[in-house]
Amino acid sequence: MQDNKVALITGGSRGIGKATAIKLAQAGCDVIINYAGNVEAANKTVEEIKATGVRAEAFKFDVSNKEEVDENIAKIIEKYQRIDVLVNNAGITRDDLFIRMTDDKWLDVINTNLNSAFYVTKPVVKLMMKQRYGSIINTTSVVGVYGNAGQANYSSAKAGLIGFTKSLAKELGGRNIRVNAVAPGFISTDMTKNLGNVDEYLKLISLKRFGTAEDVASAIKFLALDTDYITGQVLEVDGGMVI
Ligand code: NAP
Repeated sequence: MQDNKVALITGGSRGIGKATAIKLAQAGCDVIINYAGNVEAANKTVEEIKATGVRAEAFKFDVSNKEEVDENIAKIIEKYQRIDVLVNNAGITRDDLFIRMTDDKWLDVINTNLNSAFYVTKPVVKLMMKQRYGSIINTTSVVGVYGNAGQANYSSAKAGLIGFTKSLAKELGGRNIRVNAVAPGFISTDMTKNLGNVDEYLKLISLKRFGTAEDVASAIKFLALDTDYITGQVLEVDGGMVI
């Protein structure tokens, strides 16, 4: 058990993060999840991860708060000694048309979806550099590639994550640290449960269904564990969207 790889997944209590946590655990990783406030969901996810036979623990901290991130990542490193896989997955939406978008909506999304990756990845990369091994996966979105009306804040954060992914891949490749991104399309989670116009969205998807959290988790696991020679890539997991 001591030799298991250790994976840290932000926003791992629900949705895509939870499915990824379970997928990585089934592949033999010890899994640490982070969450913002939903203790019940986090505890349930930890129990489901432990049922696969690996170590699991949940850490509550706000990824948009640098002090909280630093304090908690230090605790995680002290206890687990290594982090082999980091999935920057925590994210929120605060949609509005640009002309009506408040400063708060802009800043909440940029801080939670983009600045968080800077805060979390920095201390983790320091450790990965010492290990001379690491795999980082950033959860971006198809709207970070193509844009979306009503999501200037979210699209900007997700596009930023793509630049972050490609730049870090170039900086860290020499240390055997790979950095990739997944760009999900429409995935059935709490985030999309109140989406209107479902039939209109389905028209855009070649496979004619929304994705599942497990569909995205499979792609994350592939990039994290099943390949050693892919870095700097953005894998669209969108059922073949035509945008
Ligand atoms: P979700 O079901 O709403 O889950 C969000 C997760 O992020 C929860 O674990 C939540 O913790 C955590 N979280 C939110 N704010 C946080 C913060 N400030 N600090 C720490 N954790 C925080 O979302 P999802 O649909 O699985 O989305 C996961 C990622 O995929 C996001 O980055 C999202 O932008 C991206 N994505 C989703 C879709 C989609 O269609 N669903 C498409 C493209 C990209 P609590 O449980 O404590 O609230």
